Amino acid sequence: MRRKVIAGNWKMNKTPREVRSILTDMKDKICTEGVDVLFCVPAISLVAAVESVKGTDIAIGAENMFYEEQGAYTGEISASMLVDAGVKYVILGHSERRQIFGEDNTVINMKVKKAIEHKIIPIICCGETLEQREHGVTLEFVEEQIRSAYYNVSREEAHDTIIAYEPIWAIGTGKVATSAQAQEVCADIRGCIERIYDRETADAIRILYGGSVNASNAEELFAMPDIDGGLVGGASLKPEFADIVEFGR
Ligand code: 13P
Repeated sequence: MRRKVIAGNWKMNKTPREVRSILTDMKDKICTEGVDVLFCVPAISLVAAVESVKGTDIAIGAENMFYEEQGAYTGEISASMLVDAGVKYVILGHSERRQIFGEDNTVINMKVKKAIEHKIIPIICCGETLEQREHGVTLEFVEEQIRSAYYNVSREEAHDTIIAYEPIWAIGTGKVATSAQAQEVCADIRGCIERIYDRETADAIRILYGGSVNASNAEELFAMPDIDGGLVGGASLKPEFADIVEFGR
């Protein structure tokens, strides 16, 4: 039985002061028993976030990082910096990074490898556009994203990674995928992991659904056999996030 993961992605929202205040308030309302809970916050607020959840089992994640160790990469943040700040997870390959900042599968694979090297758990995002869904190429497109992300990643290294399936048409639109649609793709991703590695690895990796998850649809989504939790955007900034966590316990 895989332990569920409920992750918030705050994207480019909230100042460090606000992050501190929201997390201080939320941490007492969230029960982490039997579930992994984490908040991914803007880089400038990571230190404040780690301090705010100290003494709880809530973890903090970054929303991105760079694949080089250090050097002349103005504006970038390295894996060692994240580790030193107490960050345990990093979202990689979010569709907003891919679409707005031009990250491609090769870059994402390099970041995945660097995160693993530093023992930061990557949350590897994948997902199709509405056009791709309508053209019936969802599974093949998502499989390509997964195969590239895990290129040259060993079976042992893959074991502790997390995948988030986020159909782009469901992100921030209020248009959630049906639980059957989400389950179909998550099952296919698990099958893809089995084809790359083996059944044991496929059974170990947690696959999350993301895209308009809220307290009204989380229960049904999380009840699906291949959905091991959620990557929650908008609703993770609201009190209802505690209710979403409850459905993961
Ligand atoms: P929303 O939950 O706001 O649709 O965002 C989903 C997302 O992109 C999480 O990474």
